[in-house]
Amino acid sequence: MTKHYRITLLPGDGIGSEIIAIAVDVLKTIAKQLDIEFIFQEALIGGSAIDATGEPLPAETLEQCRHSDAVLLAAIGGYKWDDLPNAMRPEAGLLGIRAGMGLFANLRPATILPQLVDASSLKREIVEGVDIMVVRELTGGVYFGKPKGIFETEPGEKRGVNTMAYTESEVERIGRVGFETARKRGGKLCSVDKSNVLDVSQLWRDRIIKLAPEYPDVELSHLYVDNAAMQLLRWPKQFDTIVTGNLFGDILSDAAAMLTGSIGMLPSACLGTSGPGLFEPVHGSAPDIAGQDKANPLAQVLSAAMMLRYGLDEPAAADRIEQAVQQVLDAGYRTGDIMSEGMKLVGCREMGDALIERLESSK
Ligand code: NAD
Repeated sequence: MTKHYRITLLPGDGIGSEIIAIAVDVLKTIAKQLDIEFIFQEALIGGSAIDATGEPLPAETLEQCRHSDAVLLAAIGGYKWDDLPNAMRPEAGLLGIRAGMGLFANLRPATILPQLVDASSLKREIVEGVDIMVVRELTGGVYFGKPKGIFETEPGEKRGVNTMAYTESEVERIGRVGFETARKRGGKLCSVDKSNVLDVSQLWRDRIIKLAPEYPDVELSHLYVDNAAMQLLRWPKQFDTIVTGNLFGDILSDAAAMLTGSIGMLPSACLGTSGPGLFEPVHGSAPDIAGQDKANPLAQVLSAAMMLRYGLDEPAAADRIEQAVQQVLDAGYRTGDIMSEGMKLVGCREMGDALIERLESSK
């Protein structure tokens, strides 16, 4: 029997529409092969939503996302909207949708594909075999804590304030995602905080330690965030799964991303306790290359694979997509961001066509 999934597509800004078009073609090809029907519906978010409606996250977009089976997002943002006040910038749409859909856990894999080892800025022996999952808390911490704002404390003197806060239950629910993810992987969880300085981090560490006896099969360790940043560059293979708060996770997952050589290769999943998940590349809207057919669509395509695996429980479909990605890389296809000597330089569209060809020939 044909399975039907309603997918909300959020192309956003910059390269968004170019890369999401490739992911949709890939999903349509897979659907034909596996007796699945995807019902795609586009909605506005970010700068394009600001231009069309005056706000970065129109209420209809959030409503539509909540009623989907999964949401596939490309990226938001661009120079055009950089001077708007924070609450009206495209990024507010992203924070809003994560909070509005209750997506508190962000899973960001940083896996070195054997074909791209030399694309990393670190030495081959340091990065070969790296396979890290960063589990980042997404709806709490300093990006959401109150009070926040810029206040005039005395005439002529302003003070900028953000508040880093976590409740025990927020730490517990992300901690559980961390332990459970580690359990399905290499069985090692490293919790990253700054408990030598921050009270909020002390609470974080205490709560994570309290959870540990429930997961005796997972080896728990702790690092301060400054040390974790250093260790990621020094010897990344020591890490299996990392669990951390919103701000630290934002920075560390980008650092982990760079180990892999290109931010254009990395997918991510945002999950809640129930309801649809949101799947998006780690990179931004790359306004510097938008509209030039230069974007690497593979992070978006791999995000679609994560959507199938973690959002729709269709692991066979996810496997097929991941294999096709391996095959196009094996065949030497490279977009500019992952280009190396002797490889075949292609644009976004041609990379997509190569993927479809591999998928069609492997049915
Ligand atoms: P970025 O990730 O957009 O770009 C950083 C660099 O990586 C650029 O040189 C870009 O060309 C390159 N790059 C990114 N994705 C690529 C891809 N798929 N293929 C090839 N090259 C790629 O980050 P930035 O320049 O800091 O931010 C640009 C805009 O994106 C900003 O408005 C920012 O706020 C926004 N942003 C959005 C998200 C998101 O939607 N989740 C995340 C980060 C940044």
